[in-house]
Amino acid sequence: MRKKIVAGNWKMNKTLQEGLALAKGLDEVLAKEKVNCEVIIGTPFIHLASVCAAIDTQKIGVAAENCADHASGAYTGEVSAAMVKSTGAEYVILGHSERRAYYGETPEMLKTKVRLALDNGLTPIFCIGEVLDERKAGKHFDVVKAQVEQSLFDLSAEDFSKIILAYEPVWAIGTGETATPEQAEEIHAYIRGVIAAKYGKQVADDCSILYGGSCKPSNAKELFANPDVDGGLIGGASLKVEDFMGIIRAW
Ligand code: PEP
Repeated sequence: MRKKIVAGNWKMNKTLQEGLALAKGLDEVLAKEKVNCEVIIGTPFIHLASVCAAIDTQKIGVAAENCADHASGAYTGEVSAAMVKSTGAEYVILGHSERRAYYGETPEMLKTKVRLALDNGLTPIFCIGEVLDERKAGKHFDVVKAQVEQSLFDLSAEDFSKIILAYEPVWAIGTGETATPEQAEEIHAYIRGVIAAKYGKQVADDCSILYGGSCKPSNAKELFANPDVDGGLIGGASLKVEDFMGIIRAW
């Protein structure tokens, strides 16, 4: 059975103190409330160790938002998968469209990052998704297929089974515009079919595919009601406990 997941992506928001307050606030609510999905928060690197020490990581998984494409060495300013793991984090968001667009992350680099993440015991939350022009041209299916194939399809079935996918149409990220539940289901089902063709039905059925892009308490329920939408990767609405909990409670 695949997991239902709501994962936050704080991006470059919150000072350490603000981030700790947010994580502790969420932890307090989740200590009292039983929820029907796994909860993950993705924080800036510098928050990871403090956040992991301050919350119950059995209840809230912690993710980095990136890791280096090298194991160690002279790469000033980079943070390795091993370093992320040493903080207590268990997940790493990889291939986010902002990193692909602003930091030149290529499918080849992402393939290396996925390998390093897995080798260090981290679960990648791997992001895919088309830009608006690609959607308008009807190329969105080809785009996501290529993104999955290029960075993930060298993995063994066993390793692929450790990946969480996040479909995030770039035109919906931070724009307030959300994919309709029909659009989300259509492409999630397509992605699952691509996985099934490569790794077989069981691996595809077990893969959690999250939706990301202006997901909020008011639209989460209708998105999550689709059979192939296994949760959400949440940007803006993960920055306030009440908003994030509103999405978690949609399950
Ligand atoms: C994201 O960046 O992963 C995201 C989904 O952002 P938002 O929810 O703000 O659109």
